[in-house]
Amino acid sequence: MSAVSELTDTLRLCIHTMTTKPWPLETAVDKYAAAGVRGITVWRQWLEGRPLEKSRSLIADAGLAVVSLCRGGFFPSIDAGKRREAIDDNRRALDEAAAIGAPWVVLVCGADPRQSLDESRRQIADGIAACLEHAEQLGVKLAIEPLHPMYAGDRSAVNTLAQANDLCDQLDHSSVGVAVDVYHLWWDPHLQQEIERCGRSGNLLAFHICDWRTPTIDLLNDRGLMGEGCIDIRRIRGWVEEAGFNGFNEVEIFSDRWWKADMDDFLAAILAAYRHHS
Ligand code: ZN
Repeated sequence: MSAVSELTDTLRLCIHTMTTKPWPLETAVDKYAAAGVRGITVWRQWLEGRPLEKSRSLIADAGLAVVSLCRGGFFPSIDAGKRREAIDDNRRALDEAAAIGAPWVVLVCGADPRQSLDESRRQIADGIAACLEHAEQLGVKLAIEPLHPMYAGDRSAVNTLAQANDLCDQLDHSSVGVAVDVYHLWWDPHLQQEIERCGRSGNLLAFHICDWRTPTIDLLNDRGLMGEGCIDIRRIRGWVEEAGFNGFNEVEIFSDRWWKADMDDFLAAILAAYRHHS
């Protein structure tokens, strides 16, 4: 493959800093850029210990686009004080996103097992609503990411794309949209129609890819590299693109197995898997 086509091939590839967890921001930025990756999604931990303006220029100088900031959310709690803290923290996340040039903050909406899912869902709607004015002022959006139902106990009470679409309809605000992650949604028999709906509403902001391993030995940190599992990523990517999405394909892999590997080898494996299985 020629250098030019390799570059074209990775034009819409973005990697989450969490995917290459052992690498600090400077290393991730250098390595991604050298590999022809054009986008980076920054997890907030990677912004610690450095002025936000420095992080912004570090990324921009390497020619990378900041695709998203991860993550906000965790709105529900049985404790009203904690709910207020969560709203403050989400406003700070919006400030950080604006400072580094991220167009949206991805939301892992949260859940509290001490209360009903209905109550958690109400609190999520209220929490997002409380951040929308701030988001609009900054020109940064909030991207609701539905999570697989195995996380409904404590990580997210928003578990299907239909729910995320309904929530967007309910909030009816231009500063809110949706992040579609194949890991969380691949099993849903209504996925195609809900992706179409999301696109029609202009709410399809982000697209995350990885794979589902069988068996999955850890609920959080055993995601597969594309091609290691049973998700038909190419088919879902087709639906997303038919719905009008033309943004980055974001590789988001939490994997204790891969984090133990050599990160240069992992990055090479991501590039190969992106070409062959995404
Ligand atoms: Zn995701």
